[in-house]
Amino acid sequence: MADLNGKTAVIALGGNAITRPDREDTIANQFANTRKSLDGVVELIKAGYKMVISHGNGPQVGNAILRVELSRGKAPILPLGICVADTEGGMGYMIEQSLQNRLRAESVDRKVVTVISQVLVDYDDPQIQNPTKYIGQFYTEEEAARFTKERGWVVKKDANRGWRRVVPSPQPISVIEADIIKSLVESGTIVIAVGGGGIPVYIDEKGNLEGIDAVIDKDLASAVLGKQISSEILIILTSVDKVALNYGEKNETWIDQATVSEMEDYLRKGHFPPGSMGPKMNAAIQFIRDGGKQVIITSFENAGRALKGKAGTRILPD
Ligand code: ADP
Ligand code: MG
Repeated sequence: MADLNGKTAVIALGGNAITRPDREDTIANQFANTRKSLDGVVELIKAGYKMVISHGNGPQVGNAILRVELSRGKAPILPLGICVADTEGGMGYMIEQSLQNRLRAESVDRKVVTVISQVLVDYDDPQIQNPTKYIGQFYTEEEAARFTKERGWVVKKDANRGWRRVVPSPQPISVIEADIIKSLVESGTIVIAVGGGGIPVYIDEKGNLEGIDAVIDKDLASAVLGKQISSEILIILTSVDKVALNYGEKNETWIDQATVSEMEDYLRKGHFPPGSMGPKMNAAIQFIRDGGKQVIITSFENAGRALKGKAGTRILPD
């Protein structure tokens, strides 16, 4: 076992880790992208961090749903929760095997395992009555009307791009498997968990876990798991090197470091839009407010440098 530095990090890999918009979305390319994205992760492992790795699943779960639709009448319909579970398994396998091969090549003696994670949500979460998370393909207005009637979907207009199914994205409360994840992490195992945000579940009147057709934001799920396993650091790896104020505007300014209160203020002022930087900042704020020591938001390439304070955006307690 390699030397551990005693610190625990949760690393959330963004969509770009596995699917790149500029490359054909084949499994061979997904493996190639995954291997490339692991440079920063491997640097942190070599620095002795105990670690949980989480990841997004947007394009993959979209494709899983598309397969279900295309095979209607031929193969059983899979509910959304199963599609999330399937992508958690498939993508977990890709990351796990890529990391195992990489660690072996670099003679780093750490074990890697994927834990399919269920994430507890509140059945009365307002999202369940009023879903807002777009998933899957775009449809015409006629298709949208038909699927609403035939399949009971909620379909809404997504800006100028067409009509799209929306599903609930409730707040994660806790990760059901957190204790076992924690003991694995403490023993030095690198755990891939809450992939795609994890499988949303609630507790029914009899006290049983029950799945629900929804998705969970992976950054928020990572923050919740981070708290449960007493992680010091949450690292969110995405496609930008830093977080900006007035992103994309003439007066854009990049943030090197800010306190949680400052970020709450910027969030209120609309600097971090829903669906991209908003959920990441919400996750960062929640993680620090729950006792986390720091959050880093940066690109895959800059993960190692960001940890040394030489890149990325750092969010700290007040
Ligand atoms: P991921 O797939 O990694 O979760 P997202 O695409 O959901 O990534 O969110 C990251 C994107 O957020 C960046 O690529 C950037 O275009 C966008 N973004 C929006 N607001 C900001 C901001 N204030 N600072 C930096 N990036 C921002
Ligand atoms: Mg995202």
